[in-house]
Amino acid sequence: VARFTVEVPETLEYTSLDTIEDSVSVVRGNFVTGKPRNMYWRKFQLHRLYQMVHDHEEKFYEALAKDMGKTRHEALMGDISPLLEECLYFLDNIEKLAKDEKVQPRSPTNRLDSCVIRKDPLGVVLILGCWNYPVQLPLVPLAGAIAAGNSAVVKLSETSVHTSALITKLFPKYMDIACYRIVNGAVPETTALLQHKFDHIFYTGSANVGKIIMTAAAKHLTPVTLELGGKSPAVITANSNLKTVANRVAFGKFFNTGQTCVGVDYVLIPKAQLEPFVEALRKTLADWFGAQPKASKDYGRIVNVRHFDRIMELLNRRQSGSIVIGGDSDREARYIAPTVVANVNFNDPGLMSEEIFGPILPIVTYNDLDDAVAMIKRNDPPLSVYVFSNNKKEQRQVIDYLPSGNVCVNDTLMQFGEFALPFGGVGSSGLGKYHGKRSYEIFTHERSMLIKKQRFEFLMRARYPPYTTNTLKL
Ligand code: NAD
Repeated sequence: VARFTVEVPETLEYTSLDTIEDSVSVVRGNFVTGKPRNMYWRKFQLHRLYQMVHDHEEKFYEALAKDMGKTRHEALMGDISPLLEECLYFLDNIEKLAKDEKVQPRSPTNRLDSCVIRKDPLGVVLILGCWNYPVQLPLVPLAGAIAAGNSAVVKLSETSVHTSALITKLFPKYMDIACYRIVNGAVPETTALLQHKFDHIFYTGSANVGKIIMTAAAKHLTPVTLELGGKSPAVITANSNLKTVANRVAFGKFFNTGQTCVGVDYVLIPKAQLEPFVEALRKTLADWFGAQPKASKDYGRIVNVRHFDRIMELLNRRQSGSIVIGGDSDREARYIAPTVVANVNFNDPGLMSEEIFGPILPIVTYNDLDDAVAMIKRNDPPLSVYVFSNNKKEQRQVIDYLPSGNVCVNDTLMQFGEFALPFGGVGSSGLGKYHGKRSYEIFTHERSMLIKKQRFEFLMRARYPPYTTNTLKL
């Protein structure tokens, strides 16, 4: 129960460019004092972060619904639970993660000494969040940065106006703004932030902006984590229960109205299975959203008109395939029906040219699994690969041959929610892994320490000149 109430703001106020330098230097100054490194303080701030979202859970559902028609279940599964779980994970494990690690010396000259790996915070971390999960994507990395003892500046997404404005309003009431600051804005504000020196930059978004971030970071030799996207395929083989597969593929495509980085981008299926699969999908979608998905309380909206136009342009630019389910849209309502396009050419200049990031599912057919996998492999490695088959050999045929950030066999999206697994891309789909222990590691400097004694100087003789063959015999 909230100790006070807030209203979800209707607008997002951008941070004044004049104050950005000040915010960065305040959190830097407080990092130097050692405050965010204090173990009690880290736990307290993690607890406050948990409380901020937990106290105002209903308001977060309201804000997320206003931003993209996100349903309560989607908001709970995709935003609220992951953050709360991550805070609890760190509260339970932080002492263990922060502990010095002793390793056995290997060099004979250090055998009587101690080798220790200390877990030092990196310093001031910049986190740039994305709009599709506007609670999870900026705040889950923040939990990791706090747990590891860093200060942080968090740039929320300007696209998810209501949720970012709600976080901004609540943040100073819960968190220590001497150590953790929120910045809002678009390109000019992000550009201004990137002028400053940070000790790590954690970015979630598109590969194009990822390149801008990495270039800016290079000027200060700042390490980066890039959580990007790509065209994640679902490869279905004949050894599958199509009814189950249809449910799981539909979940992977239409959850959050297709606006998920690990969402199924397209399907590859044997020619003979195309028709029964489309029929199974039709039934699944009718069961979930009824005959009029627009009227369903369980189906969301595209986040803004720019993204609506981008998705529709991909559909309109296509030169192959036919719409077998959905296809209707309403620009004013930012509504695109769950849409399935069958018999799409793998090289289609519309639907197969870039990540769709919306509720349109192209289906490409194949004759031979090896050929299908070879076709995918010609493209950049995607963030996720989904393979549906009850045959282990076929599963391996796909997994062994296709590189990707992560894999989920016989399901979709669930690997993203499993925080025991490291999450991230490979190649153009990302750089670095996070979640749980991996987030702690991202924001930690493993500082090697060799601790020797001043005794036993005679044993060091071999290191010192004058060198003789005798000294090497030590
Ligand atoms: P984007 O990458 O275009 O924008 C992200 C942020 O970058 C915005 O806040 C924007 O202000 C800023 N920005 C844009 N242009 C800039 C510039 N020239 N200089 C400095 N800053 C700039 O966001 P998007 O394309 O809408 O995001 C969607 C992409 O993000 C998809 O590819 C998706 O797969 C990916 N994504 C990945 C993950 C993940 O965890 N791997 C999660 C969510 C989204």
